[in-house]
Amino acid sequence: MILERGGGWSGPRSILKRLRDVMAAPLGAQDQLDEVVRIIAAEMVAEVCSVYLLRAGDVLELFATQGLNREAVHVTRLQVGEGLVGDIAAHARPLALADAQAHPLFAYRPETGEEIYHSFLGVPILRGGRVIGVVAVQNCSRRHYGEEEVETLQTVAMVLAELAAGGELVDPAETRLTDGIALLPLRVEGVRLNGGLAAGRAVLHNPRVVVHQLVAEDTEAELHRLAEALSGMHSALDDLLAGSDLGDGGEPRDILEAYRMFAEDRGWLRRIREAIESGLTAEAGVLRVQEDTRARMSHVTDPYLHDRLLDFEDLTNRMLQHLAGEEATAASMELPEDVVLIARSLGPAELLDYERRKLRAVVMEEGSATSHVSIIARALDLPVLGRVKDVLSKIEPLDPVIVDADNAQMIIRPGDDVQQAFRESMHTRAERKAAYVSMRDLPAVTRDGTRVSLNINVGLLADLHHLRASGADGVGLYRTEIPFMVRSTFPDVEEQTRFYHRVLRRMGDRPVVFRTLDVGGDKLLSYMRYAREDNPAMGWRSIRIGLDHPSLLRQQLRALVRAAAGFRLDVMFPMISEVAEFDEAREIFDLEVERARRRGEPLPEEFRVGAMLEVPALVWQLDMLLPRVDFLSVGSNDLLQFFFASDRANPNLSERYDILSPPMLSLLRSVVDACEKADVPLAICGEVAGRPLEAMALVGVGFTNLSMAPSSIGPVKSMVRSLDVAPLREYLGTLYGSPGRSMRAKLKSFARDHGVAI
Ligand code: PEP
Ligand code: MG
Repeated sequence: MILERGGGWSGPRSILKRLRDVMAAPLGAQDQLDEVVRIIAAEMVAEVCSVYLLRAGDVLELFATQGLNREAVHVTRLQVGEGLVGDIAAHARPLALADAQAHPLFAYRPETGEEIYHSFLGVPILRGGRVIGVVAVQNCSRRHYGEEEVETLQTVAMVLAELAAGGELVDPAETRLTDGIALLPLRVEGVRLNGGLAAGRAVLHNPRVVVHQLVAEDTEAELHRLAEALSGMHSALDDLLAGSDLGDGGEPRDILEAYRMFAEDRGWLRRIREAIESGLTAEAGVLRVQEDTRARMSHVTDPYLHDRLLDFEDLTNRMLQHLAGEEATAASMELPEDVVLIARSLGPAELLDYERRKLRAVVMEEGSATSHVSIIARALDLPVLGRVKDVLSKIEPLDPVIVDADNAQMIIRPGDDVQQAFRESMHTRAERKAAYVSMRDLPAVTRDGTRVSLNINVGLLADLHHLRASGADGVGLYRTEIPFMVRSTFPDVEEQTRFYHRVLRRMGDRPVVFRTLDVGGDKLLSYMRYAREDNPAMGWRSIRIGLDHPSLLRQQLRALVRAAAGFRLDVMFPMISEVAEFDEAREIFDLEVERARRRGEPLPEEFRVGAMLEVPALVWQLDMLLPRVDFLSVGSNDLLQFFFASDRANPNLSERYDILSPPMLSLLRSVVDACEKADVPLAICGEVAGRPLEAMALVGVGFTNLSMAPSSIGPVKSMVRSLDVAPLREYLGTLYGSPGRSMRAKLKSFARDHGVAI
């Protein structure tokens, strides 16, 4: 056997040495490949060694062989998924069989003459996480290939990947994509996280590191480079943990957890060292272990472990960047003028690291776990597409792309016709936007005289400029968790006070409703400990955290009371489920006001304390709750998900239930009635308030205070100014008891028939 354990990995080392000589020889790529298969067969004591490379159309073509009939070279072709070789390519995993012909996938090709070979070992040739070919060895005997042989062949496959990547064997244009749609436009779907349309060039948030040299000249020097890169990575991650400014922190907690899991994992480091000792460079050693881990974890279906695998990929990339001495994210690189940012996931601070002027859209493979980034993106008026499966493997840096988030799709490398349609669509939008701007100073009053207050939802100081630009009346929802999320430590009372004071000063005499910290669920703070939950949306989040950690809530309320000295202060508590919870929170607020009074601190001119209606149970407690609150604000995003038991972040359910359904409209109607009776101001601040058709229904139901993303103010105002409420109210009266599922089509017809601008 070629592997002599004890004195190290002399086997792969000796193959690698010979392969390096071939690679350095002045030969054409095909001649090099022919030589390589000869060396592998000899070193691995195999009668056959064959290399298949991926060509356009998902076809694997035999490019070189030692042992099979030469005439089969460039003749034998297998579809990805066909035969053993196709199976390896389809699943990107090795296959070792003592009796290959007995395997159900064995596909016999008479031209190869392979019927005499029984045992088979094949591994994928991977580059940048994609399969670009397969290398296989075969023996006449029923040989049981061991783990070490599999590993040796995987190491060799890396060298083959390098050879293939040279572009001489297969034109790179042919195989740019694993799905074989080379250079053709590609339409991919995702989930709309923020609507809009944009075009630009793809920029990968974590640039890929391409490793050029695989075989080491000096193993000791490579081990030394590894140690240096490791310590560089450790201190960079320590800085990240310690960093507190908006610009340099906010890394998602799971990446930091992965850092702990892997960066200090002796097994991981040991395997990288072993790979280097087998003759690879430090980069190749890291890649080699990455491919190995990928293969071992490729069957994992558990979403938690799947996420950890992705974290591990991030860490590997980070390590490669340290070895290459390159920047960590694209934010610090030279960027094109029209960036469509492509990421697996993105923290809010990471998004804010980019120059806003250059950003056109954001596309992520994930999306729901980091949906706070879409809240930021919404504030920045950027279209966001989430849950675009495997987008990173379908796109090349600087590919032109069109992001049509309104229709939850992206077109990669669009053709001329699509580009033309895009330009026309952008032109229409620009015209519409200009019309909204001209309406900015006009009041939002219906044709029959109902004044509707239009407010914006914000989370960052930078968002406040939208107030003037949009002509909104005020801020209906200040998501105070956003400033917490873009930091890496808890802000203390002084910092919070300064921040809230700046907000109030900027607002002048316009109202702003501060919502207390609404974290947990999908909005995690990297510096706060959470237990893993099966149902985070229904878990330990929002006011529940505030009441379990009263010091947190107390500090925030103290900061708000102090900041609002001389101003009016509007505060509301999110996700109240019981009157008792509101009482508890209100008591903390009152204590803080009392404390300030006792200490002689200046107090707010006036204050109003409200609750958010997000949990259906509260609807049946309104008669007790309303006398206690100064206002009520419906958080329809959460209310809808709890009302229909339908996860708001689950794309499979996104179209299933409609807020414009009789039960939901009836529920909202009963809330309006109760508030009118109790004379308690009512608002609604979920996403629905920003969609003209839904907003029309809400006004018909009786809402006169809507809060929405800034970009929605124009379209909603245009709807309001074209609406007569009285006939709509009458019409809605006939729909509440209707057995139908959604009233959307009926309401659309109503709008059309009555000339309402939706
Ligand atoms: C809501 O749930 O409707 C809401 C406004 O709060 P958030 O979207 O921040 O959960
Ligand atoms: Mg909510």
